[in-house]
Amino acid sequence: MARLIMKFGGVSVADGNRLRHVGDLVKLFSDENEIVLVTSALQGVTDELLSSAQAAARGGNVDEVTAFMKRLTDRHNQAATDAIKNPDIRNEIMAVIAQRLSELEKAYIGICYLGELTARSVDYISSYGEQLAAPILSGVLRDMGIESRYYTGGDAGIITNAEYGNARPLDKTYALIPERLCPIRGVPVVTGFIAKDEKGATTTLGRGGSDFTASLIGAAINADEIWFWKETPGVLTTDPKLEPSAKTIPSISYREAMEMSYFGAKVLHPRAIEPAIKKGIPVRVKSTFDPESPGTQIMQKDVQKADIIKAVTLSSNVALLNLSGAEMIGTPGVAGRVFTALAHAGVNIIMISQGSSEANISIVIEEKHLEKAEEALQEEFPRDIVREISRNKDVCALAVVGSGMAGTPGVAGRVFSAMGRTGINVVMISQGSSEHNISFVVSSADAKRAVQELHREFGLGGERGGD
Ligand code: ASP
Ligand code: MG
Repeated sequence: MARLIMKFGGVSVADGNRLRHVGDLVKLFSDENEIVLVTSALQGVTDELLSSAQAAARGGNVDEVTAFMKRLTDRHNQAATDAIKNPDIRNEIMAVIAQRLSELEKAYIGICYLGELTARSVDYISSYGEQLAAPILSGVLRDMGIESRYYTGGDAGIITNAEYGNARPLDKTYALIPERLCPIRGVPVVTGFIAKDEKGATTTLGRGGSDFTASLIGAAINADEIWFWKETPGVLTTDPKLEPSAKTIPSISYREAMEMSYFGAKVLHPRAIEPAIKKGIPVRVKSTFDPESPGTQIMQKDVQKADIIKAVTLSSNVALLNLSGAEMIGTPGVAGRVFTALAHAGVNIIMISQGSSEANISIVIEEKHLEKAEEALQEEFPRDIVREISRNKDVCALAVVGSGMAGTPGVAGRVFSAMGRTGINVVMISQGSSEHNISFVVSSADAKRAVQELHREFGLGGERGGD
């Protein structure tokens, strides 16, 4: 008997049919395991709640609010109708939905009249997506003969500071969660994303916060594993749209998973699994389409692969900035000024490289930050030490990830020989001393070919029997 946390979100909870499928998946594992379910809002609902709140504050149009409430009511009632067969359970859940929506409507109307939207009201309002989804899922489980209760994050013991929109759990959360949820009876369904502050006001854990909720609960009740159900077969060796032979990686370390997410493999946000990492609880990415397959296990231990590299990732929405000037050589503080200026402008830096000649510094940033990054740098260096700032949007950043490369000579050699062999020009290179990834920049036109070549070089599609 293992203790598992299962988290469902996005498309997996889009409508009644999908919710029913969630019930089937839980049932498949509930005989042999203790399960706590964490759910997101029905797909897209959080976005709609937020944009309607902004519209209400701006326009104060009560009719629009009424129309939106009607759409929300219909969608959730439809989901309950499609997913719950027993009329008693269905009616009970629909009454809960009606009750919660009438509370929500009052809040929207208040916003219409006040014309303002505080961070605290945003959290209150955006919490309703999960607050509507959890009762339905719990009803589905009961409909299938599984005992179940639903909880808000606050009811389940998640108490945070009052930093609305991005609240952090207080230490006592770790003691409160087991008090509220254990001993586990049936399959409790907990809302992801939302919590309470010490005064009882609703808080949220940041967009996409349901993953964090799942990790937090898993850490607090010492789960054996935390399962993130997705519409993908697990964590892949690369994007199958770029390389059709991409395979599911059976096992990666927390460290490797983090290196991959920084480079655009939208697996799990590193911050979301932090509580699991702290307690060393393995995390698993499972496919809703293929529940029997083990998916990808993410854990503390590094299981090294003979061919060292586990994945190749590609970020396309990046741009390269290059700062150069002869006076940069031997002048202390230039790099410091560059990074401070970018930080003040709110520009996130993805890669950095400076050769020992010191005559130039290259930086990779998100393409959408390019304008403000350039402005900030021009203001900081009005034609003094930095002579020239050039930019290139037509680039992509690649990373090869694998902890086995630490201390293994020859990996960089293989990466760049592969590029040389196919005539791909490498524009910039960066490797941190952790040696868990080698990142480099190529022009956008070469990116796909570069990914394919590296995937082949390191046997990731199985061509060389790497595993
Ligand atoms: N519903 C929230 C969001 O859309 C949290 C989540 O889905 O993880 O951000
Ligand atoms: Mg680009």
